Amino acid sequence: ALTAGIVGLPNVGKSTLFNAITKAGAEAANYPFATIDPNVGIVEVPDYRLDRLAELVEPKKIVPTTFEFTDIAGIVKGASKGEGLGNKFLANIREVDAICHVVRCFDDDNITHVSGKVDPLDDIETINLELVLADLESINKRYARVAKIAKTKDQEAMTELAVLDKIKPTLEEGRPVRAIAFDEEEQKIVKGLFLLTSKPVLYVANVSEDNVADAEDVEYVKQVRELAASEQAEVIVICAEIEEEIAELEEDEKEMFLEDLGITEPGLDKLIRSSYNLLGLGTYFTAGPQEVRAWTFKKGIKAPEAAGIIHSDFERGFIRAETISFKDFDQYGSEKAAKEAGKMRSEGKDYIVQDGDVMLFRFNV
Ligand code: GDP
Repeated sequence: ALTAGIVGLPNVGKSTLFNAITKAGAEAANYPFATIDPNVGIVEVPDYRLDRLAELVEPKKIVPTTFEFTDIAGIVKGASKGEGLGNKFLANIREVDAICHVVRCFDDDNITHVSGKVDPLDDIETINLELVLADLESINKRYARVAKIAKTKDQEAMTELAVLDKIKPTLEEGRPVRAIAFDEEEQKIVKGLFLLTSKPVLYVANVSEDNVADAEDVEYVKQVRELAASEQAEVIVICAEIEEEIAELEEDEKEMFLEDLGITEPGLDKLIRSSYNLLGLGTYFTAGPQEVRAWTFKKGIKAPEAAGIIHSDFERGFIRAETISFKDFDQYGSEKAAKEAGKMRSEGKDYIVQDGDVMLFRFNV
């Protein structure tokens, strides 16, 4: 499964947020593996479409899809020098598919800030610099080798060298690789370089409880948004302390609590959804009387591969997929009604699965 790693300087609210994640995920007792690694928190992906399908189909069982967050501890400053814990920090980041970078955007004199004052841009730069330096080191190593092969007019090496030439100056300026626009061919090469700063990033601006309702007016948040826009990263605003409280409430208490705060949905839901989107993930559904279920897929895959997420036999023996978009299912109210209205499509092996598809796979055993 794809995972997003939570990083940030000390005392910015990482543990508070991760606690909220594990508490919210605790009710998912049907995922026993959740308890194996204490640094991994598994959450259900909130999706109104699943709720709506369940309302229409009234199945015996409703199964949401899940998403994993990894808590990345360890020292940050000097990590790229490759000593002990710092090394581990970078190795852990290398293993995640996206980065949730928690940034302190709350003032609180009682909580020490590692560099003495609250300064989100400076904090972000501290972490990003370590990642940039680590990338620069791997690029430089690779550069010498590839340049040598490129001299023999090897086409592949020449193409890669051109990409490295594009990346190097950006890193030398202290900027992340994700800020660079690549075409499709270049993107493939970049992917193979396994760089830290090419991973998608979501900045999580952690604001004080007094600011949740009007967070966009907070100067710190504006600064983070501006920086994120310049490097193709995303931003969400949360208050980690409140999220930890919300995670402990019952469903009906939650709504009242949110209303009192003047917010419409838990920040955790925003975090889950944004991370999911950041990784290019989508959801398709299966809906029958036994079970209505959400399944995560990587956007762009074709129907047989999507079927294989359920079971490898479905992929191997794939014939076709009877498909209704969620929108049509919702509008017509049932599979039967949607079918009668001509809204059920019989899709073949080249069909690219769309977010929100309700699918029934036909296959040979
Ligand atoms: P970490 O070192 O990044 O894991 O930070 P922690 O989650 O341990 O938080 C450090 C301190 O900041 C703790 O005392 C938290 O209670 C506090 N804290 C975290 N989030 C918030 C917040 O949104 N508002 C305020 N006022 N304090 C927070």
